Amino acid sequence: MQPFFKAFLDLMLPSFCLACDKPLGSAPDLLFCPDCLEKLCFIQSPLCPCCGRVYLVATGGDHHCGTCLTTPRHFTRARALFLYEELLKKVVHRFKYQGKTDCLPSFARFARNLPQLTETKKIDLIVPVPLHQSRLRERGFNQALLLARAFFPKDQRIIPNLLIRSRPTAPQTGFSGAARRTNLKNAFAVINPHRLTGKKILLVDDVFTTGTTVNECAKVLKKAGAIEVIVLTLARVTEDY
Ligand SMILES: [Zn+2]
Ligand SMILES: [Zn+2]
Repeated sequence: MQPFFKAFLDLMLPSFCLACDKPLGSAPDLLFCPDCLEKLCFIQSPLCPCCGRVYLVATGGDHHCGTCLTTPRHFTRARALFLYEELLKKVVHRFKYQGKTDCLPSFARFARNLPQLTETKKIDLIVPVPLHQSRLRERGFNQALLLARAFFPKDQRIIPNLLIRSRPTAPQTGFSGAARRTNLKNAFAVINPHRLTGKKILLVDDVFTTGTTVNECAKVLKKAGAIEVIVLTLARVTEDY
């Protein structure tokens, strides 16, 4: 690109880092400055092969975590792209609560060649974790559906209204342990269960915290006929709590 033309574009269409608002010049491929890029924590082994819990100080290979050994999981495995740390929290917050969806193309680019996505080739259907109608009206979009569409562009396997949240629920962040499960009891339902019979499902959500939400969704999907549920989230907390 001619320097003059690039300078003109920078002036007309400036881009800023999603995390620190530093100017980036025109149309960069990733909306993160080099400093913030370095702080993004991509998830890698060693982790729990079931829930994807990351062992930050552990040495050796993948091994099941205490929670997965003692708590039944209805999903086969859960994987996330990033640790849900300070920088990513800020970007996810902008996205979910301020409706700033400009992070999606960058996330999609990061995800393209990661094993978490390439492992999903044998999936039959992609189902986003649903919001209740009242929350959807308030927010205007379902972040899980937008993430699914960003990760799998134009993919016909994405079925937005197969799994629904049949009653409003309080945010899970206000609860811990058993109260999280009670809060979500009978909160999800399947429309057209025949579409699920014998199918392998990829369930998509924004953040994996304790896994209660995706576990409850997986339980409902399997009860309705799905043979397997795998979970993919943008981010995962570092520790269970
Ligand atoms: Zn930055
Ligand atoms: Zn685990």
